[in-house]
Amino acid sequence: MIERIKNKALTGERISREEILYILRCNEEPALKEIFDAAYSVKVREVGKKVHLRGLVEISNICTKNCYYCGIRKGNSEVTRYALSQEEILDCARLTQKFEYGSLVLQAGERSDAAFVDFIEDTLQKIKALPGPELGITLSLGEQSPETYKRWFAAGAHRYLLRIETSSSEFYKELHPADHLLSERKKCLDYLREAGYQVGTGVMSGLPGQTLESLADDIEFFHKQDVDMIGMGPYITHHATPLGQKFPNYASDLLLGLKMIAATRLALINVNIASTTALQTLAPDGRECGLLAGANVIMPNVGDLVHRKDYLLYENKPGTDENAADIRQNLEQAISAIGEEIEYNTWGDSPHHTFFSAGKESRQRKGR
Ligand code: SAM
Ligand code: SF4
Repeated sequence: MIERIKNKALTGERISREEILYILRCNEEPALKEIFDAAYSVKVREVGKKVHLRGLVEISNICTKNCYYCGIRKGNSEVTRYALSQEEILDCARLTQKFEYGSLVLQAGERSDAAFVDFIEDTLQKIKALPGPELGITLSLGEQSPETYKRWFAAGAHRYLLRIETSSSEFYKELHPADHLLSERKKCLDYLREAGYQVGTGVMSGLPGQTLESLADDIEFFHKQDVDMIGMGPYITHHATPLGQKFPNYASDLLLGLKMIAATRLALINVNIASTTALQTLAPDGRECGLLAGANVIMPNVGDLVHRKDYLLYENKPGTDENAADIRQNLEQAISAIGEEIEYNTWGDSPHHTFFSAGKESRQRKGR
C-alpha cells in the first residue's frame, strides 16, 4: 500500500478512500515518515517550499450558536464578550500591511443580524480602501444567507472558510443542538461558491466518538465539494462546554491531525491547507510539523493582546501573551529552521482555484 501511495504522489494521481484510511490507521515507522515525505513532496511540487500568511483578527467572540465543543458558545457564561470597533479592525489591517502578510482573515462567533451584516460590509470596503498594498480578505463568520455572502463578496472579501466539522449527519447531531443543521452548512458551501468566493472547509479530528472511517469520508467530501482551501485541526477540550464536561480528561491527538493533513494533501493535491493553531497548542512545533506534513498556510494573530484570552475556543490556546510583532519574528525563525520560506506581500490564492477558474471572470485573477 505504501508503495502505491508513494507512486501516486510521484505521478500526481490522487489517493483513494482505501489509501486515505491506510494513512489514518498507520502508527508505525518507517511507514509514517514515508507518508509525510510523500505528502510533503506533493506540496513542494504544487506550491513550492513556501508558506503563505494571513493576519488573523478575532473580531468578536459574541456567538448566537451553541456548538457543544466550543469555548465561546452562547451558553458559556464564563466568557467576557467583546466586539472590536471598526477602527480597531482597521488597525489590525494596517498592521497586516506593515508586516507584509498580504492577506487578512476576519473570524468571529456567528451573528447574522442586520447591524452585523452592515458593519462587516462597511468594514470590508474600508479595508479595501486603505492606502498601501491591497490586502486579500478571507472571512470566517459562519452560516449566512446567500444575499449576505454576495454583499460581503461585492464589498471585497474573496475567500471564505466554513468548516463542516464532520460530513456525517449522525455525528453532527451528537456535536450540536437540534437546530444546528449540517444540511444548512453544506448548502452554505454552495452559496459561497455561487457568490464567487474561493471556498474553504474542514473538520476537527480526534473528537470523542469519531471514527477513522468517518474522517476518511470527510476527505472524500472535500474532494466531491471541489473546495479550494482546507482548515483542519485536532479537537481540544474546553472545560465549560457540554463535550468538555462529558469527556473532561480527553486526550487530543496531534499525530492524527498531522495524518489528516498528509492524507488531504495526497487526495486533493493542489488546495491551500492551513497549519492551524490547534496543532501548535498540542506541541510547540506543531505548526511546523503541519507544514512538513503538507500544509502551506499559517494564520498568525494580528489582534490586540487585550482580547486574546477571551477568544478561547479550547484550553491552553497558545499566543495569548505574545504580541503580534513577537509572533512574526518567532514564526519567521521557525519557518526558516525547517527550510521553508515565507512569501510576503502576496494574496497566496489557492492554486486549485487559479487552475479551475482559468478563463473565468474572478476576483483573484485581478489580484496577484
Ligand atoms: N463561528 C464560525 C464558525 O463556527 O464557522 C467561525 C469561528 S469558529 C470559532 C472556528 C472553528 O473553531 C470551528 O469551525 C471549529 O472547528 C473550531 N473549534 C471550536 N471549538 C474547538 C475545539 N474545542 N477544539 C478545536 N477546534 C475548535
Ligand atoms: Fe459559535 Fe463557531 Fe463556536 Fe459554533 S464553533 S459556538 S458557531 S464560534
